[in-house]
Amino acid sequence: MKLENVKIVMVETTHPGNIGAAARAMKNMGLSQLVLVNPKCPVGERAYARGSGANNVLDDRVTVESLPDAIKDSQIVVGTSARLRSLAWPELDPQSLAEKADAVTQAGKVAIVFGREHAGLTNDELQHCHYTVTIPSNPEFSSLNVASAIQVVSYELYKRTQQEEAGDAVVDAEPLADSAEMEGYFKHLEQVLVSTGFLDPDNPRQLMKRLRRLYQRAEPSKNEINILRGILTAVQKFRK
Ligand code: SAH
Repeated sequence: MKLENVKIVMVETTHPGNIGAAARAMKNMGLSQLVLVNPKCPVGERAYARGSGANNVLDDRVTVESLPDAIKDSQIVVGTSARLRSLAWPELDPQSLAEKADAVTQAGKVAIVFGREHAGLTNDELQHCHYTVTIPSNPEFSSLNVASAIQVVSYELYKRTQQEEAGDAVVDAEPLADSAEMEGYFKHLEQVLVSTGFLDPDNPRQLMKRLRRLYQRAEPSKNEINILRGILTAVQKFRK
């Protein structure tokens, strides 16, 4: 596991204490890449106080305006959620997330995304994720504090590094497409589906959502995404 290839993304966090506590939890578990998406609070004294010495994680944080910006260079994006959604998304438990991250971080990056304290992640944000992870908890009181959720997930990743024996790691031969390349593909696909009449923009139903789930489940390589885009371009040329 290359922990330096894992980033923790916090979306629109409102409490500086949670950002500090998250930084501390990360540093305890050997993680250092913190990305804040449009934070709703300053990262000042209160955050540093709760960070209790995880200053470097807070100093090196990256702040961006939107989730796509935060994850564009990541090959695997994982959303965390306390509850299940209407259209089920591929799920991992924290331990299988660690196994997945172990394999992917050998040659690529993993982003793990955490939602707002009061509202979690939107469905739209979850659609950018290949997987969702739910920490098993009391069904009647399932929502953890966001920094606590980061603690649990980071712990699983760290634990995995302790179990690794030489030669254990799976190295993927071909580099996976990153999130920006996947988004480029989805945009291209949507254009072709609309122009061929397969997708009615006035009545899109859940088609793009289902297709995103399908393609993300396949974890295509950069080469494979190039082939798929080549097919779309051929369809566009053929129509002209
Ligand atoms: N009312 C919100 C709760 C958000 S808790 C909701 O129902 O979505 C804030 C964040 O902490 C969540 O977005 C998620 O990132 C994380 N979190 C809290 N409980 C979790 C759990 N049981 N499993 C995984 N992530 C959890």
